[in-house]
Amino acid sequence: MALSGGPAGGVLRQLLGCFLRVEQNVLRALGLQPVHPALAVHAPGTCPSETEDLDIANNVPSFLDSIFWMAAPKSRRTIEVNRCRRRNPNKLLKEKNNIDMCPECGHLKLKHVLCGFCYAKVRHETHLIRQEIKAKESGPFNAPTVETLVLYEGEKPRPEDEGKRIIERKRIRPSWFTY
Ligand SMILES: [Zn+2]
Repeated sequence: MALSGGPAGGVLRQLLGCFLRVEQNVLRALGLQPVHPALAVHAPGTCPSETEDLDIANNVPSFLDSIFWMAAPKSRRTIEVNRCRRRNPNKLLKEKNNIDMCPECGHLKLKHVLCGFCYAKVRHETHLIRQEIKAKESGPFNAPTVETLVLYEGEKPRPEDEGKRIIERKRIRPSWFTY
């Protein structure tokens, strides 16, 4: 509080001194220590003690510390530099010119590669045929060492199929499965 000079300031200063004296007398009468103005410092709640400093000085820095320091970039990379790196032609996906249409199902596939949809279809049918064989012969050890013929609904074995192992399927022959 800044007290201005002149008669008014002098009166105010006398009043303040009187008030402080009265306050200290009251505090002494109550048995309390009078409070004097003191410097207050705003500091963190946990101040490092001397023992902690000694511990840090004695500790040998681990290799992890150096790694963390190495990871810190020295300067910020601009957005232009970042975009040039991300959109570099070497990093972009290459255009493919070897895509063809499957003549069986019409799905797109790579040239000179089996069509994935047709392959899944054949694999499912093969799995069902294997299940039929397992139900008929109850295990792989009873399989005869002859050629296998798969017959679909409405088909009869030809004369040249004499002696072959015949597996019957209860469905119409698929168009892609030739006799
Ligand atoms: Zn296909």
